[in-house]
Amino acid sequence: MNAHAHAAPTAPQTRAPLDPARIRCDFPLLGRSVHGKPLIYLDSANTSQKPAVVIEAVDHFYRHMNANVSRAVHQLGEEATTAYEGVRTRLAQFLGAPSRDEIVLTSGTTQAINLVAYSYALPRLAPGDEIVTTMMEHHANIVPWQLVCERSGATLKVAPITPAGELDVARYLELLGPRVKLAAVTHVSNVLGTINPIAQIAREARRRGIPLLVDGSQAAPHLPVDVKALGCDFYAVTGHKLFAPTGTGALWARRELLADMPPFFGGGEMIREVSFSGTTFADPPQRFEAGTPNIAGFIGLGAALDYVQSLGRERMAAYEHALLEYATAALQAVPGLRIIGEAAHKVAVISFLIDGVHGHDLATLLDQEGVAVRSGHHCAHPLMAFYGVPATVRASFSIYNTRDEVDRCVAAIDRVRKLLA
Ligand code: PMP
Repeated sequence: MNAHAHAAPTAPQTRAPLDPARIRCDFPLLGRSVHGKPLIYLDSANTSQKPAVVIEAVDHFYRHMNANVSRAVHQLGEEATTAYEGVRTRLAQFLGAPSRDEIVLTSGTTQAINLVAYSYALPRLAPGDEIVTTMMEHHANIVPWQLVCERSGATLKVAPITPAGELDVARYLELLGPRVKLAAVTHVSNVLGTINPIAQIAREARRRGIPLLVDGSQAAPHLPVDVKALGCDFYAVTGHKLFAPTGTGALWARRELLADMPPFFGGGEMIREVSFSGTTFADPPQRFEAGTPNIAGFIGLGAALDYVQSLGRERMAAYEHALLEYATAALQAVPGLRIIGEAAHKVAVISFLIDGVHGHDLATLLDQEGVAVRSGHHCAHPLMAFYGVPATVRASFSIYNTRDEVDRCVAAIDRVRKLLA
């Protein structure tokens, strides 16, 4: 008899909350000290730390597998190609993409957005056409659009935000008029932490026949992402904020859009046939992947995606959300501290200012206490101008940060504040 025939139905699996003490053991760098103090790393929106599994995957690649991809029939070349192409498949799963052929591997979000700007947008833009972006974007989701608008005579329209740091969705949708050839928006703001309602915007853009590009750099490390459910047309991610090496990232785009895009970079690996009477190009995604890529970095990205999947993105988001609430309350209690970015839906990113204290001074003195925060414009000049400030201090959290670190950071801020005020 089948041993399982009378087994009781299993209860739905509910996993225990993330244990930060265990998570921290996965990240070797977190054990170091800075200026003689234990490191408190609160700059993950800038770049995340890397778990040992990622470091080891890169190390293993160079020790045992190093070869160029797609160019050799020898064993090493085949192993490297299989491992590298496996990451494309994992990225497709990670993003909920219908096909691995819709994943273009890039050096990061900046390259992904520039690819769309030059290969998708520019050939379609005529004088008087429009592209729409928002006031809360990173320069990577502003400057490429300015450059292609300048070349084509098109205009860049900017949707406003509210003082709380939420996108004015109604105004964004109003801007989606008949001359708009492409709409761009960030999923999550790197300064404010705001999570934008992408599914709603995508639905409306689609009704108007306007393709929507989403900058997912700050979303993918914190939220479950499913491009099918979001309903957008382009989604850009970067590996280095997602526990993976720098110089890795991807653009997901609908197959029919990619099929209609000319190459952006020319060179090896992106061609079908080269001759001086005319060169023909490979199908997407290879058409957009000229030259030797960051192979080891992508192998590391594959390990990072496995790591995230093993922890569970819902669990990670729940842990970080509780930490955000705790840190927000703790920072709000600091006299003279003002949080910039109070959207109802946020990831664990907190920008702030303290009356009478220069951000760079604060960040420099916090560094002396072992606390790594970022102070500056965060590549978002227009957003700084909107708030009328040159810079903010930003504490950004990840799964390896703890309440104890929040307490120690707030105590350090208080000491520094008294010193500087
Ligand atoms: N967009 C956002 C929202 C970002 O935070 C960043 C990185 N700071 C980028 C784009 C640029 O990404 P990358 O580092 O991959 O070029």
